[in-house]
Amino acid sequence: MTSDNWNVLAERSLRGELLSREQARSVLNAPDEVLLEQLAAAYRVRRHYWGNRVRLHFLLNAQSGLCPEDCHYCSQSKISTAEIQKYPLLAKDKILHAAEQAERQKAGTFCFVISGRSPTESTFSQVLEAVREVKAKSDLKICTCLGLLSSEQAQRLAEAGVDRVNHNLNTSAAHHPQICTTHTFDNRVATLKHVKAAGITTCSGGIIGMGESDDDVIDLALSLRELEVTSVPVNFLIPIPGTPFEGTNELNPRRCLRVLCLFRFLLPTQEIRIAGGREVHLRSLQPLGLYPANSMFIADYLTTPGQAAEQDFEMIRDAGFILEASDGSPLALHNHKRVKVAEEARGAQEQR
Ligand code: SF4
Repeated sequence: MTSDNWNVLAERSLRGELLSREQARSVLNAPDEVLLEQLAAAYRVRRHYWGNRVRLHFLLNAQSGLCPEDCHYCSQSKISTAEIQKYPLLAKDKILHAAEQAERQKAGTFCFVISGRSPTESTFSQVLEAVREVKAKSDLKICTCLGLLSSEQAQRLAEAGVDRVNHNLNTSAAHHPQICTTHTFDNRVATLKHVKAAGITTCSGGIIGMGESDDDVIDLALSLRELEVTSVPVNFLIPIPGTPFEGTNELNPRRCLRVLCLFRFLLPTQEIRIAGGREVHLRSLQPLGLYPANSMFIADYLTTPGQAAEQDFEMIRDAGFILEASDGSPLALHNHKRVKVAEEARGAQEQR
């Protein structure tokens, strides 16, 4: 394909038309030497809807481990032997403290995640209480990720002021039995439908690198389009030792970028977030991910660390992107690092 052809895909996407299956496959199978042309075409679509703004999300693992499910990618599952911290729901003051940290790190959305198939009534009530307090004390948007939800639970989350609920489809319907046997793809779809019916926007994405085919990647994106998901986190599998995917290594930075381009072409208006595995799999090409994607996590992931916030700020600034506040307005990103270096230099001069 020439750059003209990639632009044809961008134009189709901008018109709201679907790529054909053949065109979608061609995005994933393109040779490395046309990667920049693909990224430029995907950026046309991204820029049309999102300009050069970047949204930041801050993740809090508010309850860790001890999960009865068997999601093969997850270090918190019942079949994982990974050495992770396991704890019940954090006390409210710790949750509020984390929300303050999210604000300091310029995050627009505070993602509040708990492990488990579904929350118990006691945990659910405590989550609602914490949500109300964070909403009262900050401008953060709140996204909760609480596992499978009933329609009644979704309604109660809406009443508490939750802005968004995350529940990832993770992979295609066809590939789902290979990654989890304790709940189904349809269970996950049902939760997203309950959330949408309650008037809350949905966040749902996937994990790439779990043995899926190109068609599975395409089908995942098409399911997210059909469900009109608002926000789409794209994770790249970190094969955590002690999980069934330990030792899996299917990804390289170019493949990850092609997947992000495909998601942008198929989901032009949706927020696409580079999620877990960004540092591990995109490595030195991380800034290029911001050309198809318009959002990323800042700080740590659920059970794996992310890079320092200052490094992320520097990357965004160096690439000429700007931060977006939770209300969509541009956010000043002061050059903390340079200020610090200048202060240190001044201190050294004063000592002489
Ligand atoms: S992804 Fe969620 S439901 Fe699946 S094992 Fe991990 S904590 Fe449990």
